[in-house]
Amino acid sequence: MSARTIPMTDELYEYLLQANRPLPELFVSLREETAAMPAGGMQISAEQGHFMALLTRLIRAHRVLEVGVFTGYSALTVATALPEDGKLIACDVSTEWTNIGRRYWEQAGVAHKIDLRIAPALDTLDSLIADGHAGTFDFAFIDADKPNYDGYYERMLQLVRPGGLIAIDNTLWSGHVSNPEKNDESTVALRTLNAKIRDDHRVHLSLLPVGDGLTLVMKI
Ligand code: CA
Repeated sequence: MSARTIPMTDELYEYLLQANRPLPELFVSLREETAAMPAGGMQISAEQGHFMALLTRLIRAHRVLEVGVFTGYSALTVATALPEDGKLIACDVSTEWTNIGRRYWEQAGVAHKIDLRIAPALDTLDSLIADGHAGTFDFAFIDADKPNYDGYYERMLQLVRPGGLIAIDNTLWSGHVSNPEKNDESTVALRTLNAKIRDDHRVHLSLLPVGDGLTLVMKI
């Protein structure tokens, strides 16, 4: 029994992984290929992937937006959970990283659900708004450069339908957000956005200690 989230020991973490469904072989391969890269730590955790896939099914998402694809693991899990006619618009600036994801999306048979847009995500989101897609997305995931998070958040709020969900990654930022001596640009951006969302009457929210902190925001 505990009135707060219990500490995650290595032993308990192994148990948690085992208690979730085993990952398909392709998913494991992408995780391993990514983990071997210098930037491999940017990959979402396996348990966060399970959670996001469940959320996708739970809200019966058809149209999803992602900012920050990296090597495509979150896109792979979410696209797999989408119905056949579902669509994920995935925004990133790196062809090098997203080309890794593309390979796995194709092998997993979900590439037709993923519309990858290589461009600064703020431009892509602004184009979607200008083209009349406001209020048409069910689920959005923000996991990219932290100083632009507020810009992504404001655009996602326009693009997601009322009752839709925005998931924001890294909102606990390795604990730096609670350290008053940490005032680099990314930490300040996350701390400021966390405070803004807490007081934002346009949304309901829950900040969860999943991975590096995951804030779930429901647009009212
Ligand atoms: Ca992240």
